[in-house]
Order: sequence, then C-alpha cells, then structure tokens
Amino acid sequence: MAELDYYEILQIERGCSQEEIKKAYRKMALKYHPDRNPNDKEAEEKFKLVNEAYQVLSDENKRSIYDRYGKAGLEGQGFHGFEGQSYEDIMDDLSAIFESVFGGGFTGARSRKRSGAKYNLDLSAQMQISFKEAVFGTEKKLKYRYKKPCEACRGTGAKDGTVKQCEYCNGQGQVYMRQGFMTYAQTCPRCHGSGEVIAQKCPKCDGRGYEEVETTVTVEIPEGVDDGNRLRIPGAGNIAPDGRRGDLYVTFYVEEDEHFIRHGDDIYLEVPVFFTQAVLGDTIEIPTLRGKKELKLNQGTKDKEQFVFRNEGVRNVHSGRLGNLIAQVRLVYPKSLNEKQKELLRELQESFGIESKPHESIFESAFEKIKGWFKK
Ligand SMILES: [Zn+2]
Ligand SMILES: [Zn+2]
Repeated sequence: MAELDYYEILQIERGCSQEEIKKAYRKMALKYHPDRNPNDKEAEEKFKLVNEAYQVLSDENKRSIYDRYGKAGLEGQGFHGFEGQSYEDIMDDLSAIFESVFGGGFTGARSRKRSGAKYNLDLSAQMQISFKEAVFGTEKKLKYRYKKPCEACRGTGAKDGTVKQCEYCNGQGQVYMRQGFMTYAQTCPRCHGSGEVIAQKCPKCDGRGYEEVETTVTVEIPEGVDDGNRLRIPGAGNIAPDGRRGDLYVTFYVEEDEHFIRHGDDIYLEVPVFFTQAVLGDTIEIPTLRGKKELKLNQGTKDKEQFVFRNEGVRNVHSGRLGNLIAQVRLVYPKSLNEKQKELLRELQESFGIESKPHESIFESAFEKIKGWFKK
C-alpha cells in the first residue's frame, strides 16, 4: 500500500503555519469522525490517518523529523502510526487528540474515561450471515470471549495486590531520550506509563490481571443489515476492575447470493432472454426477494436493458425505506444452429430486405466522404 503524505492527508502546503494545520485538522477530523459516519470502515481509516498526521505535524519536533526523514525517521524515535490497529484499541488516543483541539464532550457515547483496566472495555467480534439473514433480519447466537478482572488480585496482576514504583522511569511513566541537541519524551516501555510495576506476579492470572470467560449472546440482526455494518450490543464487552462494563461491537459479513446482487438497498437480477424472445417480445416470470413478478419484455428488447420494480429491494436498516429491484436483460444467442435453423434464419433475414442490412444505408455517405479525404 502506498504511504500517504501527512500534508496530503490534511490537504495543506508543506511550509504552512501551526494555525493552518489546526484549521485543516478541525475540518478533516469532523468530516471523518465516526459519530458522523457510523459503520463506515473507510471513514474510520481516514479518521485514524487524519489524527496521526495531526499528531506529527502539530508537534514541531516531530514535524521537523518528518520533513527531513519521513515516517521512517519518526519510527526511529519510537513513534508509530495507527495503521492496522483496531479502532477500539486506539479510541482513547484518538479521543485525546480530538479533544485537545475541540474540547471534550463531542465524542459522545464512544469515549470513555480510564477505568483502571489494563485492557479496552469495548470488544469487537465478527459474524458471518447469509444473504437472506441480512435482507430479512433474524436472531443468531454468537459465541465470544470477554475479559473480567482476576478475583485473586482484583485486576492488578500483582500477588496480594502489591505494586512498587517503576525503577526504569522512577515512577514518572515517561523516559527521556537525547539525540544530538534534542530530547524526546517517550512512554516508559517497562510500566507503559503507569509509573508502577508489579512486585510479584499474581499466580492465578500470571500477572495479566484478568481472566477470559466464554459466553454466548443472542444477536438481533436487524432487517436490511449490509456487509461491513456494525451493531453495538451495550454492556456485553469486557469488565473493568471497578465493575464497569464495555460494549460489544459485532461486524457483519454477508455471504453472496447465487442470483441476487445487492448494491446498497437495491437488488440487481440478471435475466437471461433468448434472442427470439427479445425480438418478438414476451412476458416472463422472475423471482424477487419476496416472491415472483411478471416482467413484460417489449418487442425489440435490448441487451442490458433494465426494468425497475419499485420497493422490491431491501429495507434500509436506518430509514426503513425499501430499495428497488432492477432486472437487467442478458441476451442469449443459440450456441449452435442446425441446417433447418440456418435455413429459417436466412429466410427471415431475406424477408426484411434492406432493413436487414442497416450498415449499408448508414455507411453509404461515409464511404463517399472518405473517398474525398484521399483524392487530394
Ligand atoms: Zn490475578
Ligand atoms: Zn516506568
């Protein structure tokens, strides 16, 4: 994958001021904010990139390294972008950047304060469903695992709950690295910023602080759900040591159907039509999502001609409005002809006379014209 330039992501000039960077960030972050683009994976990725770009360009140290050495230079300083990380895992970081510019309160339901947990409270899971289940909705059981604090150590990961100050950073949570004239602050790699380390690991959870529990939840799949849509199940996520519980986000993967092709709320159906049916016209029966419909083919129906059946598509999962069914003709010609059929077709062609040779009447003037082009 090509790496996008941070300036391009924010759509700004290389030498622009901090004020312009902030302004560009405001614009782009609002545009791609997940609260405004629910269930949109692409917007989510863009939001991550916009935040990453701002995180670097708003910091003059990071920016000067980036200007000279690119992203590789920053990675050498221990900075890594958000690419490829799950949204839930970095939500806190993203919210912090966003709130530093916009002030708190905007990120709504998805932002959450630190809960004392070593893990994110929100969980994500995937669910494969059939085309029919997505179109009509259903109930389905989902088996998944969530984390809950280890009872023996109350989620601390320390034997008897005893922690001591991190010696690596003297309890600061940050370490400083000198490079030439510059000093960089970095989250302490030993205590991950908490300033504390476990004196002795809890033997029950091996210092992790949590245990995993397998459970089953009944997912109510709403009618009209589409591939990549995400459903939030409140209070089904991980449990924090303070007892609070996160949410479970289920992403649906919808299997394809053999006949119907879904495009948003519209359904496309390819209808094979034999060439004689197309020429003569015919009325045929086609399948729809909810039964059958008559399709009237006019005399002279064209290949790829489309017939729209209003409100025969999928019910929109948000608005409840029905999409359309679009039947598209695919002309089918005979694979081979026997002598009798050839004879009949020749006879048919002759009966049309000059009409059966449209190229002759249309190209006549063209032949005259091009003769003139080469005479000079
Ligand atoms: Zn434990
Ligand atoms: Zn430390």
